[in-house]
Amino acid sequence: KENKGKLPTYPGLSRYKLLEKMGDGAFSNVYRALDLEGNQGEVAIKVVRKYELNSSQPDNHLHPDFKKVPKTVERANILKEVQIMKQLDHPNIVKLIEFQECRSYYYIVLELLKGGELFHQIVRLTYFSEDLSRHVITQVADALKYLHEVKGVVHRDIKPENLLFEPIPFVPSKNPKPVQPGDEDKEDEGEFIPGVGAGGIGRIKVADFGLSKVVWDTQTMTPCGTVGYTAPEIVRDERYSKSVDMWALGCVLYTLLCGFPPFYDESINVLTEKVAKGQYTFLSPWWDNISKSAQDLISHLLTVDPDERYDINQFLNHPWIRGTKEETRPAR
Ligand code: ADP
Ligand code: MG
Repeated sequence: KENKGKLPTYPGLSRYKLLEKMGDGAFSNVYRALDLEGNQGEVAIKVVRKYELNSSQPDNHLHPDFKKVPKTVERANILKEVQIMKQLDHPNIVKLIEFQECRSYYYIVLELLKGGELFHQIVRLTYFSEDLSRHVITQVADALKYLHEVKGVVHRDIKPENLLFEPIPFVPSKNPKPVQPGDEDKEDEGEFIPGVGAGGIGRIKVADFGLSKVVWDTQTMTPCGTVGYTAPEIVRDERYSKSVDMWALGCVLYTLLCGFPPFYDESINVLTEKVAKGQYTFLSPWWDNISKSAQDLISHLLTVDPDERYDINQFLNHPWIRGTKEETRPAR
């Protein structure tokens, strides 16, 4: 379903041929594209419209996709997103390929994740089994461990829309079943791979570093960026900021297991109040058949006091995570 003809041509982006519009964020449009000059193959390109403060240019040279962009994107924010992504190299984090800009747009060229958003899989499957949830959340946690402990980066926008995946490829059976008379037309069903089979959820990658931030490094106690003059309350705040990702991780895990988020209300004021008080429940009947161990883990993440909330290592050492998959998981 490639909407040919509708795809815009962007100035200075001739190296790539746009193939399909994939994402429609508030500040950006994301396209699947082909690298015509290099050997990148297919990539994802996040196109962000520039803010033109005193532009005398009318906006009609902009593609209609951008007419509804509600707010301006500060140059510093884009550069920070790119700067942070440049420093990251982890199997569970979307890789930055290159950054370009022209007069009207920024172009962030990224490794393509063909599966798309985890969000759509939750909608498609209603909810995930405990094994599939563990398969997913452990990969997100591995990315967070790297961000928090190696890079001193907090993501600050962990949610199912920003978690992308590679679909599980079809792998032909090593020992195909002997063909029975009458079944000559049936296709090989393929090797069974945990996930949800071919097309299901393989590797998960964290995307969208638009709100991410480098923080105080608690391990070396060295400030990242500035030197020596940071006030105690800032240092304390920065330490807490990693815990915002852990809260979000708890919200994602809750949502994976039951198919709806822990905190919801139509009124934003009521919702805010519920979050502030940490008011959520393991709602019956949806949670009746989900293990107490999973609920225990979630309750240690959805803890209002950030000092008591699990950090990434406590998360990874919880029995529900280590559980059955212990021996098949790589040591970390
Ligand atoms: P925004 O800041 O607008 O949320 P994102 O970086 O989250 O921008 O991208 C918006 C959407 O585009 C994502 O939710 C996803 O659907 C899609 N997308 C972004 N990056 C990729 C990628 N590397 N591969 C596939 N789809 C992507
Ligand atoms: Mg996003």
